[in-house]
Amino acid sequence: MNTIPCDVTAEPTYSANDYKSRIKPVWCPGCGDYSVLSALTKALSELQLPPEQVALVSGIGCSSRLPAYTSLYGFHSIHGRALPVATGLKAARPDLTVLVAGGDGDGFSIGGNHFLHACRRNIDMTYIVMDNAVYGMTKGQASPTTAPDWTGSKLTPEGTGIEAIHPLEIALSAGANFIARTFAGQPNHVAQMICEGIRAPGFSLIQVLSPCVTFRPEQRGYKEQVHQDWSTPVTDRKEAFLRLLDDDGFATGVLYRGNHRPFHPAPDDTLSIVDLEKRFAL
Ligand code: SF4
Ligand code: MG
Repeated sequence: MNTIPCDVTAEPTYSANDYKSRIKPVWCPGCGDYSVLSALTKALSELQLPPEQVALVSGIGCSSRLPAYTSLYGFHSIHGRALPVATGLKAARPDLTVLVAGGDGDGFSIGGNHFLHACRRNIDMTYIVMDNAVYGMTKGQASPTTAPDWTGSKLTPEGTGIEAIHPLEIALSAGANFIARTFAGQPNHVAQMICEGIRAPGFSLIQVLSPCVTFRPEQRGYKEQVHQDWSTPVTDRKEAFLRLLDDDGFATGVLYRGNHRPFHPAPDDTLSIVDLEKRFAL
């Protein structure tokens, strides 16, 4: 279990800059992901986590470039597979703080099955999803969180006609222990949610409404739509579901803080790689 404090009062050793790499992000000017990067480094600095004790795993997409822009151990994996990679890492190295980053297409479409089971396994990791309801890197197609009447893509000129999924409902149903939503335009709030997500034991989902200013320019209007209604987290699942029934997609804060038992795989340190290869040899 993580017992890291959020309000560290001792003289800080690590500043937010210590978690940044020298690589300049290639995101479009105004992209919400800049703010998430900045919030992440701020949260890690608040927690005073040594960079070499943190690993950041991502999938594929604009937001999945995140590890390259940090000084953390990073793994830019394959589409939709960040969560299983992170699960394996946490199983082998339970001492590490494991973070996962990606977008809505990566995490909820290609990686949808892994998302379900990561919530269910409830392994101690924090999944930051930069949700812009579009596939940004491939130039603007509808994703699983796109509204059915969005006509901004030539592939779906009359909209998809398919209802968007609700990631927080899925996470709550599947067993995630900490579920929050925040908005990239409020970086201090994003940092606070990341901080709380890391502190919470088990699987934490943080949905960040992160505008894609290039393919969804109307998302610049999110700042007028978000409202911090979930300032008090609930610990009762039924109550959390009731909150979601009234959700307009723009309520922010901690939706749910549960008490599910995290799964702690016990790594067998006595086995070498050669032993493992022998065990799995056909
Ligand atoms: Fe950000 Fe959209 Fe540009 Fe990707 S395409 S970097 S999500 S603004
Ligand atoms: Mg996206």
